[in-house]
Amino acid sequence: MKVGALKETAPGEARVALTPESAGRLKKLGYECLVEKGAGLAASFTDAAYEQAGVTVVDSADALWKQADVIVKVREPSEAEIEAAPEGKTLISFVWPAANEDLLEKMKAKNLSVLAMDMVPRISRAQKMDALSSMANIAGYRAVVEAGNNFGRFFMGQMTAAGKVPPAKVLVVGAGVAGLAAIGTSTSLGAITLAFDVRPEVAEQIESMGAEFVYLDFEEEQTDGAETGGYAAPSSPEFREKQLEKFRELAPDVDIVITTALIPNRPAPELWTEDMVEAMKPGSVIVDLAAERGGNCTLTKKDERIVTDNDVTIIGYTDFPSRMATQSSNLYATNIRHMLDDLTPEKDGKPVIDMEDDVIRGSLVCHEGEITWPPPEPKTK
Ligand code: NAD
Repeated sequence: MKVGALKETAPGEARVALTPESAGRLKKLGYECLVEKGAGLAASFTDAAYEQAGVTVVDSADALWKQADVIVKVREPSEAEIEAAPEGKTLISFVWPAANEDLLEKMKAKNLSVLAMDMVPRISRAQKMDALSSMANIAGYRAVVEAGNNFGRFFMGQMTAAGKVPPAKVLVVGAGVAGLAAIGTSTSLGAITLAFDVRPEVAEQIESMGAEFVYLDFEEEQTDGAETGGYAAPSSPEFREKQLEKFRELAPDVDIVITTALIPNRPAPELWTEDMVEAMKPGSVIVDLAAERGGNCTLTKKDERIVTDNDVTIIGYTDFPSRMATQSSNLYATNIRHMLDDLTPEKDGKPVIDMEDDVIRGSLVCHEGEITWPPPEPKTK
C-alpha cells in the first residue's frame, strides 16, 4: 500500500510528517511512499531529496489523497482537508480530539480510520511513538536558545581581559519533558540553573543534570501536586502561596525564567505574576512554554514577544518545534514510522488495526464509521 505525506496548510507550519530517511525505512515495511510537491521544503527536504530516496512526488493534495492509502501529516487536518478526503482512508496526525469534536464528526462521516499522535499512550513500549515528548524536548531546547537570543549577556561566567562576567541565572518552572530539556540545555551552556516542580521525584533528575532543585519550606512533603498517572494535579491554596512566595524571593535574582508547568485538561497554572515581572532586573527574559494554554506568566501574550516598561522580555510563542523544522520533522517522522511499524505486523505494507493493541487502540479516534475516542484504559503500563 501507499503512504503519502501532505504539505501542511496551517499558517507558518514548517514541519513535514515524512522525510527521505523515514521513507527509506517505510519501504522496508513494504510501503510505497508519496509526498505532496514542496511538502518538505520549509524543513529543508527538497523534492529531489525525496525522489532520490525513491519517493514519488505528486502535484497536489487532491492527487495525494486519491493515490495514498495512509495519509500522514503533522497538524490536525482542517475541515476543508477532511471535506477533500476520499472515503475510507487511514490518517495519522496530531488530532487533539478533546478540542476538535466537530472534526471527529466530519472524519466519521468520511469513514476515515484516524490515529491521533497526541493520544499515543505514555507507556514504556510506546516511547518511540511519543510525539508529544519528542516535540516537547525540542520546545524545551529552543526555549533556552530563544531566551539567549533575547538576553544581552553570556550564559557562562567568564574571566576575560576585558573584565569578569558573571554566569546567567536561569529558573525553569515545571520539569516534565520540556522542562528537563530546558534544564539540560541551560546547564550545558554554563548558566546557574534552578528548577522547580510540584512532583518531588524529579529532584534527583534535576540535580543529576547539574541544576539545583528549589525546595519549599512547606510542612508536608513537596507532593502537593499529587500525581495522577505521572502528571501533576492542581495545588492547594496553601502550597501555591508557598510556591509564589519562593518565586517572589527569586524574581530579583534570576535573569531568565522558562515556564513549562501544565496540568492535564486545565488552563496553565498562573505562577509568575505581574509583581514578579516588575521585580526582575532590566534585560531579563521570560519564555512561557505554557502560552498555548493561557500561560504560566500572567502577562504572557500568546504568539507574541512583548517588552515590559521595566525592560523584561516575555516570549509567548507556541510554535517552537516548527521553528526547528528539520529537527522536529526528523523526530516526528520517526515517531510516525514506528507507529506504522506497529500497524504492520507482517511487514508487508498492509496496515492492520488491532483493537487489542493498547497503543493502536489508545491512538485510534475514528474507525469504521464510529468515533472511538476516548479509548478504554490501557491494559499494560
Ligand atoms: P506536562 O507537560 O503535563 O507538565 C509539565 C510539568 O509541569 C510537569 O512536570 C508537572 O509536574 C509540572 N507542573 C504542574 N503544575 C506545576 C506547578 N504548579 N508548579 C511547577 N510545576 C508544575 O508534563 P509532561 O512533560 O507531559 O510529563 C508528565 C509526566 O509524564 C512526567 O512524569 C514524565 O516523565 C511522564 N512521561 C512519561 C512517558 C512515558 O513513560 N512514555 C513519556 C513522557 C512523559
